[in-house]
Amino acid sequence: MTVADKKIPSMAEMSGQPGAKTGAEFLERLRRNPPTLYIDGQRVEDPTTHPSTKNMSASLAGLYDLQHSPEYRDLLTFEEGGVRYGRSFMVPRTKEDLRTIGEAHRVRANYGLGFLGRAPDYMNANVMAAGEGADYFARSKPKGDYAVDFSENMRRYARFVRDNDLCLTHALTNPQVNRAKLEGELPDPYIALGIVEETPEGVIVRGARMMATLPIADEILIFPSTVLRSNDKESIYAMGFAVPCNAPGISFQCREPIDVGRDPEDHPLSSRFDEQDAFVIFDDVLVPWERVFLLYDVELANNAYAGTGAVLHMAYQVVNLKVAKTEAFLGTAQSIVNAIGSGQFQHVQSKMAEIIVMLEIMKGLEVAAREQAEPNEYGVMTPARRPLDAARNYYPANHARLPELLQLLGASGIIMMPSKADREGPLGEQIARFLQAGNASAEDRLKLFRLAWDMGMSSFAGRQELYERYFFGDPVRMHSALYEVYDSTEAVQRIQDFLNRDGMYAEGGKNQ
Ligand SMILES: Cc1cc2nc3c(=O)[nH]c(=O)nc-3n(C[C@H](O)[C@H](O)[C@H](O)COP(=O)(O)OP(=O)(O)OC[C@H]3O[C@@H](n4cnc5c(N)ncnc54)[C@H](O)[C@@H]3O)c2cc1C
Repeated sequence: MTVADKKIPSMAEMSGQPGAKTGAEFLERLRRNPPTLYIDGQRVEDPTTHPSTKNMSASLAGLYDLQHSPEYRDLLTFEEGGVRYGRSFMVPRTKEDLRTIGEAHRVRANYGLGFLGRAPDYMNANVMAAGEGADYFARSKPKGDYAVDFSENMRRYARFVRDNDLCLTHALTNPQVNRAKLEGELPDPYIALGIVEETPEGVIVRGARMMATLPIADEILIFPSTVLRSNDKESIYAMGFAVPCNAPGISFQCREPIDVGRDPEDHPLSSRFDEQDAFVIFDDVLVPWERVFLLYDVELANNAYAGTGAVLHMAYQVVNLKVAKTEAFLGTAQSIVNAIGSGQFQHVQSKMAEIIVMLEIMKGLEVAAREQAEPNEYGVMTPARRPLDAARNYYPANHARLPELLQLLGASGIIMMPSKADREGPLGEQIARFLQAGNASAEDRLKLFRLAWDMGMSSFAGRQELYERYFFGDPVRMHSALYEVYDSTEAVQRIQDFLNRDGMYAEGGKNQ
């Protein structure tokens, strides 16, 4: 393949009428430009019709349609220059803006009961903040004599994503070959994604990235990550860019699908929200200059999320999403308790209380993050770091208790769940009689327990559990990072003052 064969259309050529898209427009775009997905050894020619991806594509389309519904249009979109854009692209200037953005995140999260980890708002928050903080990239330059301005590129790309209401995926980590080695020490220097060469058209990149959730997307953003370890100031592994998910040379190797084509009544979450996770291979992909944001600079790459403020806006989307998810666990658990009449048992109440406490902690952290928000150096009202750091360390450590509580509350009900076909089969009458609930028909009871199973026991639930542990990074290293940045000076000083107190009272309390 020559460099000419690798060319992708310019962003201007790819752009259409600006504004928030409908589900039909999103699906049409996916059909025209399908991401290069591979599932079970075969190329997915059209994700909107392939059995493993069509339901997720339809769910995404539903999210795009939601922003045009009369009920949510005003919340989920905003107007600027006579055009309505998706709310998650809005640049917050006030705390009230943040509150509105948070509310919109929660409405969109409720659409998937909080189980759609990577609805487009997550990456929208990333590009919004990166676009506003684009000056951050000014220091980075190509080695060759190419007239490119990475800051301007970042700004233009953020507008491109907003104007076309694109759906993005991203991939930060390099393949898990040997974590004891640096990227350049692996058997092949291009196992980890690296820069091969600069050309007049752009940069050639080669290698792989470990994980991209939601590869059923328009574009992949390789945002400079915080995980690059290097002994040098410059590295071929430090980069930031974006390309369409069908750029020549790019392939997404998807994991085994969780959506196995069952009726949504039987698999209420897995049949709708299998967002997929893919291993991403870059086989000498040409990234046009207009899509490059950073090259070689290790320090700039490692600090990009913090330096642009992107991480806090993404974490704010996440805290809202996790509120919605915890509410879904609460609603499901309480419905089970109501259905089987177990609410008078003290340990059942105590288990429900555990969910309530978790929910209120997350809600409190969301409020704290926006109430303590301050404008960053780029004038973007930015949610406070401390509550968000607490949320993104707390939730991964505690989430697994939620499915466990569903199991403890539902017991055999979460396994004895005849399917819709069973209910409609020869034993239908007996199923209706013996599997009714204290307050509901067998049909309603079984729908409920099937939901609890998909939340807490199915392969969909298993993947969710791993996702919650790792999606925002390694919890071990996140704890260390929190320890490193948290300023405990005042607390330490108070203890020192106490230890040095003379007698019973502090100064001022003496002789009273
Ligand atoms: C379901 C799922 C979806 C995901 N989606 C995305 C996505 O869309 N985009 C994306 O970019 N990423 C995604 N991730 C990846 C996520 O960012 C990583 O899982 C996370 O950063 C941890 O990296 P790793 O998986 O490579 O683990 P590793 O770094 O390989 O860690 C494996 C083990 O070794 C330990 N370890 C490794 N190195 C160190 C070290 N230096 N110090 C201490 N302990 C260490 C870890 O603590 C862990 O126990 C996803 C992950 C999952 C599970």
